[in-house]
Amino acid sequence: MADTAVRKTLIASCSFCGKPNTDVATLVAGPGVYICDECVTLCQLIMESKPASVPQLRAWPPSWRACRGSDGPPARSRRT
Ligand SMILES: [Zn+2]
Repeated sequence: MADTAVRKTLIASCSFCGKPNTDVATLVAGPGVYICDECVTLCQLIMESKPASVPQLRAWPPSWRACRGSDGPPARSRRT
């Protein structure tokens, strides 16, 4: 009996989950990126469950600028 299994050659990997094309059923190529069928399914679930309106983020408290003398948030503490 002949070996009818199609052997995939490693060509690229999903830009989202990192799985190579040999580990997924389908890998779709975009301009400089790839996405596998599993990530497409996950994206569909996210899109279907997203809220009707985009939640608005609050602006940075103006006290940070006054206290730290910079425009950004305070630097992260290096202590863990
Ligand atoms: Zn993926």
